[in-house]
Amino acid sequence: MTDTTQLVIRAEKPNFLGGENPFEAMMSRFDYAAKLLKLEPGLYKVLRHPEKTITVSVPIMMDSGEVEVFTGYRVLYNTSRGPGKGGIRFDRNVTMDEVTALAAWMAWKCAVVNIPFGGAKGGVVCDPLSMSINELEKLTRRYTAGIINVLGPDSDVPAPDVNTNERIMAWVMDTYSMHVGHTVTAVVTGKPVEMGGSLGRREATGRGCMIVACEALKEAGMQIKGARVAVQGFGNVGSVSADLMQKAGFTIVAVSDVQGGIYNKNGLDVQDVLNWRTTHRYLSGYPRAEAISNEQLLALDCDVLLPAALENVITAENAGDVKAKVIIEGANGPTAASADAILDRKGVFVVPDILANAGGVTVSYFEWVQDRGGYFWDEETVNNRLTQIMERSFRDVLEVSKKYNVNMRIAAYTLAIDRVAKVHRLRGMYA
Ligand code: NAD
Repeated sequence: MTDTTQLVIRAEKPNFLGGENPFEAMMSRFDYAAKLLKLEPGLYKVLRHPEKTITVSVPIMMDSGEVEVFTGYRVLYNTSRGPGKGGIRFDRNVTMDEVTALAAWMAWKCAVVNIPFGGAKGGVVCDPLSMSINELEKLTRRYTAGIINVLGPDSDVPAPDVNTNERIMAWVMDTYSMHVGHTVTAVVTGKPVEMGGSLGRREATGRGCMIVACEALKEAGMQIKGARVAVQGFGNVGSVSADLMQKAGFTIVAVSDVQGGIYNKNGLDVQDVLNWRTTHRYLSGYPRAEAISNEQLLALDCDVLLPAALENVITAENAGDVKAKVIIEGANGPTAASADAILDRKGVFVVPDILANAGGVTVSYFEWVQDRGGYFWDEETVNNRLTQIMERSFRDVLEVSKKYNVNMRIAAYTLAIDRVAKVHRLRGMYA
């Protein structure tokens, strides 16, 4: 039996909607981009509304023998460019508003990197930490059965998100396959490699961050070699980014986790820090660095800041203290909308989340392609194709930013909304 604690990948995750509401934060940028594009009012209305929202009851028999009923959601925000794509989260704080915001986010992200997916998201309101592996399996299967009519390689393709992982994706795939009567690997991504997952998927988001960081430094006229980087969050995205950036020539001066950070002005040995984390779980106590707080990390004297933990960490209150010249948003929504103008005034070059962390969904797309083709690529092919897409997307966003004289965030939204709007116009209004 698997240890249940291994199922929970983001146990420290607090309420996503804490602080500034990310849906409003995103929509304020959406509105700005829509005005820039002079989006026609009808299309504006279409793109401001989710296409389909589903709420399901998820009754399961708990280990105690009692029946418990959970609530599950799935939102398909926009599928004009292809099947819905977006994760499933298990969390106490899941709400329909949050799921809708995240589904819209996915629609823009897929359009920025120009992969043929729309945006979707799902979630179940539950406390996975208090549930047994058996209960989690039942919850996953019953939730999947509840939303089965929208799922499918051509309609909606989930992936892991907060507190869900490849073990859970395997159950989603199995449940769907049992319902349709044959094995359908392409119905979810982020699966174990043994059953149709892609090589390179685990590192994809961090690799994407490293690739756009290199592009951003070139654009800012800065040297990669020796550029000092501070990384907030040392989980999947933060630790892989730090490791690959060090290999690319950057100097990682600070990293942090939920308990705080570590700093060494001469550079940390990332592999050594990874080894420490494996044996000690947290970074605190690491001997070859000094301890700093997460707040201090954000204000460190460095060249690149890579927030890779939480939403809303760079706010109107602390944006003025940021000394980095480049920010790579590994996390979703790390910068509050109210901080954008402050960073702009300081001349900070921000690579926004919907571009910077799109490496993950890009390799999810590769997984779906490989499953549908039944032909699997080696890791080098995956990484090379990811590099091509990230570099091209960076250039596309940069071009829009120069054309409209806007920052990279507004440029990314503008590019995404333009791509989605063009497809709507080409398809025309049905009825
Ligand atoms: P993770 O759970 O693997 O790691 C999160 C890290 O953040 C951990 O080191 C944790 O200790 C740290 N952390 C938690 N609370 C913190 C706090 N209050 N202050 C500082 N650090 C804190 O998660 P992840 O998969 O690396 O995801 C990180 C971010 O990147 C999230 O915003 C996620 O939505 C986003 N993201 C992840 C992927 C992916 O493929 N994993 C893709 C796109 C976006």
